[in-house]
Amino acid sequence: MMRLHMEIRGVVQGVGFRPFVHRLVSEHDLNGYIKNTSSGVELELEGEHAALERFCEALPQRAPKLAVIEEIRTRYTEETVGYRGFTIRQSKTEAFRNTLISPDICICDDCLRELLDPADRRYRYPFINCTNCGPRFTIVKDVPYDRALTSMGKFPMCPRCDREYHDIENRRYHAQPDCCPDCGPRVFFLDGAGRELPGDAIETARAWLKAGKIVAVKGLGGMHLACRCDDAQIAARLRQRKQRDEKPFAVMCRSLETARRVCTVSDAEAEVLCGFRRPIVLLQKRAPGLSHLSENGYLGVMLPYTPLHVLLFGADIDMLIMTSANLSDTPILCRNEDALRELRGIADGFLLHDRDIQTRCDDSLCWVLDGREYPARRSRGYVPFPVRVENGRSGILACGAEQKASFCLTKGNYVFPSQHIGDLKNVETLEHYEGQFAHFQRLFDIEPELLVCDLHPDYMSTRYAQDRAEAEGLPLLQVQHHHAHMAACMADNDLPGPCIGLIWDGTGYGTDGTTWGGECLVGGYESFERRGSIRPIPLIGGDRAVKELDRVAFTLLRDAGCETGGIPNADTYETMLRAGLNCPLSSGMGRLFDGVAAILGIKRLANYEGQGAVLLEAAAAEDEGEYPAVLTGEPLCFDWRPMIRAIVSERDGGVPAGVIAARFLNTLIRMAAETAASVSRETGVTDVVLSGGSFQNMYIMHRLPEKLRERGLKPWHHSRVSTNDEGLSLGQAMIAAAIWKKDEENVSCSSFETD
Ligand code: ZN
Ligand code: ZN
Ligand code: FE
Repeated sequence: MMRLHMEIRGVVQGVGFRPFVHRLVSEHDLNGYIKNTSSGVELELEGEHAALERFCEALPQRAPKLAVIEEIRTRYTEETVGYRGFTIRQSKTEAFRNTLISPDICICDDCLRELLDPADRRYRYPFINCTNCGPRFTIVKDVPYDRALTSMGKFPMCPRCDREYHDIENRRYHAQPDCCPDCGPRVFFLDGAGRELPGDAIETARAWLKAGKIVAVKGLGGMHLACRCDDAQIAARLRQRKQRDEKPFAVMCRSLETARRVCTVSDAEAEVLCGFRRPIVLLQKRAPGLSHLSENGYLGVMLPYTPLHVLLFGADIDMLIMTSANLSDTPILCRNEDALRELRGIADGFLLHDRDIQTRCDDSLCWVLDGREYPARRSRGYVPFPVRVENGRSGILACGAEQKASFCLTKGNYVFPSQHIGDLKNVETLEHYEGQFAHFQRLFDIEPELLVCDLHPDYMSTRYAQDRAEAEGLPLLQVQHHHAHMAACMADNDLPGPCIGLIWDGTGYGTDGTTWGGECLVGGYESFERRGSIRPIPLIGGDRAVKELDRVAFTLLRDAGCETGGIPNADTYETMLRAGLNCPLSSGMGRLFDGVAAILGIKRLANYEGQGAVLLEAAAAEDEGEYPAVLTGEPLCFDWRPMIRAIVSERDGGVPAGVIAARFLNTLIRMAAETAASVSRETGVTDVVLSGGSFQNMYIMHRLPEKLRERGLKPWHHSRVSTNDEGLSLGQAMIAAAIWKKDEENVSCSSFETD
């Protein structure tokens, strides 16, 4: 007989860890107790040495999916206490448990089996769930996480569910949303006029979908619009009704096998696709005839994640378009009455239920890169789980950017990023953003002591931060956009710095008041230097040039000394440029992509953000060629004029657009590698972080890291937060933490401005 003392550090509270340990302890015939501590859990167990060792081996292997075990410390002693049975001790320091709320988790295999078993009492019940699966974040109203404070509060448990809930041996022990057909929510189907139809709601929805109708389906964090995807006309009807002309649709496939029929799926992609978080994974298309779903080389694919989805697909629907039900940049609809009102004329029918969505949460979106998620939207399935960082700091509220807004709240080394919020220029989205601040603060019991926002004076997030700082008398730190991107990628990879940052995006406010976005920075969390950029591009008409790509094409051609005759309105543009009338300078990489897309005739009028770049990538052929990558001056400046001249001459010489697109991208890759190598030679820094929306280009992401390695550099990219502006709030928080720390050490230097 031995006694084992065990301390487990990490995210092990509020994830079903103690019931799991209880079951494991009974299996191994051990006695003792478990209790929560401020950093994790503490265990004391007694039993035979061999049994204790087997327990230690099984514990990390079989731990609940959401548990993050950072460290296990064990100590054996011969002296035993004589524990009898196993107890879960209540401790005083359960603050963290109460504040840790699980993300929503896809239906688990056990529940799936019961769902499809005619003998089970939850057979075909679309709200089946257990401790290992089901809705969480999206149904929580308040803490502590307890049924009464969730959307399930209005559904009292029936005696059978209640028994399961209180039985520690049961899979539904303390599963707050536990329910059954006798006591839980119900699903119903309404026609376009909002009249409930009799009969099996899910079967009706299936029939309507098969007949080519568009059906709104209530999911976990919001509504989807679903329809068949094998018919281009139906997709076109949905586009027309939703006014989503060209933006790709995501699809839901019944299974991995059906996904494989339309896309290539690597093992790593399959793992993410089938994982419990169930994001939309951007997969390379392989089947022809999918252009009505996505105009580029990728298709966003997800697998069913709720029991309702499983039943909706049944055995005979393979694939459905599943696009978020939101209108022109407003947040995703999540209330029944809103859906019925707003989607009138868009959806032919509505598959709804009476379990309320408390918190809106969009589908997450990612590529898989180097075997891990490469996020474009971190939302359902991930939020509100924290990102663990080194050298964190409590009480920071980072307000993010604007178009892809998100925020972060910090507690020690845990940073809690919000879900995808959307474009703050929209009033409803701004309200959602403000509402989520309050919600997160309450859920995680964080009282902000310091606010941090972007340097851009006109971002709605900046205004929010300024107003709040003033109202609450809190210090406010404004952080340069690309510095925040860089810090986000450093924190994403636990890098202490200094680092070189290749930060490419469409636009960000520079310290000189111009728009930046093709940057090479060097520095750390506390400060940075701008060591490289691209030759600034005057944007004719400012923001209009972001949509009307010809305007950028005109500037590039004119500046490079090329013929501009073919461009409509060339004379007007010439006048505006000459007069310097509303032609702000931008070194945004996104503009270079846009301009080249227009010069090649790939895209002249952007229908959605970044479309020029996306189509350029899609067009790019396999080609090794490149154009001159001229770097001049100090800081290094990429002079794109020789490249533009080469592009025009090849285009006019009949070289296919796809080949030119590839050579253009190769040139940018070469330029990035040369710039970073040069900065590295001067500074001795070898870690290179890649961040910013332009790195959502997989052609670049599959090639640039190798080119950096060839030059002795160490490339890093995002895997925990998004590479676009959504991930930026993490960087803001980390910069604030570092500066705050420095500020305290060095009392004389005050970096904070208080309004
Ligand atoms: Zn389950
Ligand atoms: Zn029940
Ligand atoms: Fe950005």
